[in-house]
Amino acid sequence: MTAKVIDGKAFAATVRAKVAHHVAALKAKGLTPGLAVVLVGEDPASQVYVRNKHASTIEVGMASFEHKLQIDTSEADLLALVESLNADPKVHGILVQLPLPSHLNSELIINTIDPSKDVDGFHISNVGLLGTGQKSMVPCTPLGCLMMLRDHHGKLAGLNAVVVGRSNIVGKPMAQLLLGDSCTVTIAHSRTKDLASVCRSADILVAAVGRPEMITGDMVKSGATVIDVGINRVERDGKSRLVGDVHYASAVEVAGAITPVPGGVGPMTIACLLANTVTACCRANGLAEPEGLTA
Ligand code: NDP
Repeated sequence: MTAKVIDGKAFAATVRAKVAHHVAALKAKGLTPGLAVVLVGEDPASQVYVRNKHASTIEVGMASFEHKLQIDTSEADLLALVESLNADPKVHGILVQLPLPSHLNSELIINTIDPSKDVDGFHISNVGLLGTGQKSMVPCTPLGCLMMLRDHHGKLAGLNAVVVGRSNIVGKPMAQLLLGDSCTVTIAHSRTKDLASVCRSADILVAAVGRPEMITGDMVKSGATVIDVGINRVERDGKSRLVGDVHYASAVEVAGAITPVPGGVGPMTIACLLANTVTACCRANGLAEPEGLTA
């Protein structure tokens, strides 16, 4: 069996097209959704992410507000900026690019963002709302995974889902979302015993570990859907390459469907950031939420 390849790049393009459609409809009402991105310092990877976010925001017709701050920016100054963005009616979404330099308290900064503008879904209020099954802003990467799973399976109810990884930004919210769709969810982590057999129980296997190609084909149940969140840079044959947490060549022979790396989950993350910004704009203005763009 060779798995169906879930094309995240194409799927993300359809999400961005939906977002652009909603943005146009909002603009016709005199509302332009706006996303503010704050970058502190000059971390090269973060600079690339912020540049991509800016370009994607403009492409769908939204307003993009970039704030690039010096690496030695004080916590007080950053908090003051966040407060001013909270108060700015042109800004519907605020994203503070992580990681922040070590002299800044990330938790404090994130929890100062107005939860209704917290398009990353990291504010403790949003974490609590998601955990209790209430309407929240949902972290972008797990939301993207959920959208792809719903698109592939239709209904997810009753399926066995295993999420490998329990981070606050991917593993835990992913598990909450799958639970919200009535999957039977197991969360595996570095202390899990016999990870291979836990993984083989999964109809849906989500890998969010950060270890190159750790999940091999013999750990995948025949016909399972495999979502590979991992992004790992490795050296192969003298070249730098991106690989996932799943050993693609062996897993693709066993799975029913699989996301590749690159071109799987990655492109969905920015698409979902844009989706969250439109959702935030609609909620802030008492309008119906865009269908298919939220959890
Ligand atoms: P973290 O390092 O925060 O979490 C990794 C998790 O994997 C931890 O819960 C850890 O368990 C678990 N783990 C580590 N080793 C093992 C092991 N041997 N067996 C089982 N579980 C293990 O990573 P993130 O969640 O932030 O990211 C995970 C991956 O996803 C990374 O490759 C990252 O680059 C990628 N990523 C991709 C995104 C995208 O847009 N596509 C967005 C965000 C992340 P424990 O808690 O016990 O230590």
